[in-house]
Amino acid sequence: MKIELASSYGFCFGVKRAIEIAQKYENSATMGPLIHNEDEINRLKKDFNVGLYSQLSDVKPDDTVIIRTHGIPKNDLKELKKGVKKVINATCPFVTTPQNIVKNMSKDGYSILIFGDIEHPEVKGVKSYASDLDDVHVILCPEDLKNVKFKNNKIACVAQTTKKKETYLEIVNALILKNKEVRVFNTICDATFENQDAARDISKKADIMIVIGGKSSSNTKQLHSICLENCKNSYLIENENELESSWFINKNYCGITAGASTPDWVIQKVIDKIKSFKP
Ligand code: SF4
Repeated sequence: MKIELASSYGFCFGVKRAIEIAQKYENSATMGPLIHNEDEINRLKKDFNVGLYSQLSDVKPDDTVIIRTHGIPKNDLKELKKGVKKVINATCPFVTTPQNIVKNMSKDGYSILIFGDIEHPEVKGVKSYASDLDDVHVILCPEDLKNVKFKNNKIACVAQTTKKKETYLEIVNALILKNKEVRVFNTICDATFENQDAARDISKKADIMIVIGGKSSSNTKQLHSICLENCKNSYLIENENELESSWFINKNYCGITAGASTPDWVIQKVIDKIKSFKP
C-alpha cells in the first residue's frame, strides 16, 4: 500500500511560535491548553515543566503565565496581568487581528458579526473586544442570520481563523442583499487554506485517508469533513493507538494529513504503525 502525506499538513506558523515561546519559559504555565494537542501539551510538561491552568482563580502571584494561541477574553487578560508576576502573550498574530478589528469597528459604531463557533475559545476572545457586547453576533451558517438583530445599519464581519471561506462568502452575500453598509474582513488564516486545499487534492486520489489531530480542534475537524467529501474511508485519530488494522484491508493508497496543532513526531508514529500492519 502506498502511503503519502498531503503536500501541506500539520503545524502552522502560530503553533510553532507558541511552542517556541513555551519552551523558552521553563516552569511557567499556560492559561487554557496552549494548542489543541494533548500529546504535545504532555511533552511540554514533561520536558519543560510547562503547566496548565484551566481557570483564572488557580493562578498564583509568582507565576509566569503564557496566553495560548487562541487568545483569551479581554477581561481575563486584564485580571491575569494584575494577578501574576509575568504574562507572556503567545496569541497567534492572526487571532490578534480579528480581536483588533472587532475593538476598532465596534468603537466606530459598527454592529459586529462573527462567523464562527460561539463555544470556541478563539471566538470567545474575539467577541470580548466589542465595546457593545449586546451587538456582537456569532453565527455558524447563513441560515443563522434570520435570528440576528443588529442595532446599527452598518455591519463589520470577521471570521474565526479556521472557518471555510466558501461559507463565509455565502454569509457575506446574504448580508449585502439586506444592508446598506457591510465591511468584510478576511480573517481566515492561510495556513488553514493550504492544509485544506492539500487535503482536498490527496483525498480525491486516496482510498483511505487518515486525519491526525485533536478531536476538539476545529481545523482538524474541518480537514476531516473535507476528506469525507471525497473519500468515505476517512478517519480522524489523535495518535497511532487509535488506528485499526481492519481499516486498511484491500486498500492501495493511504493519504495522510494533520491538523495545525499536530507535531511531526505524532505523525511519524502513525506512519510507522500503518507500515507495520500486514498487507
Ligand atoms: S491556524 Fe492560523 S490562526 Fe490558527 S494558530 Fe495557526 S497560523 Fe495562527
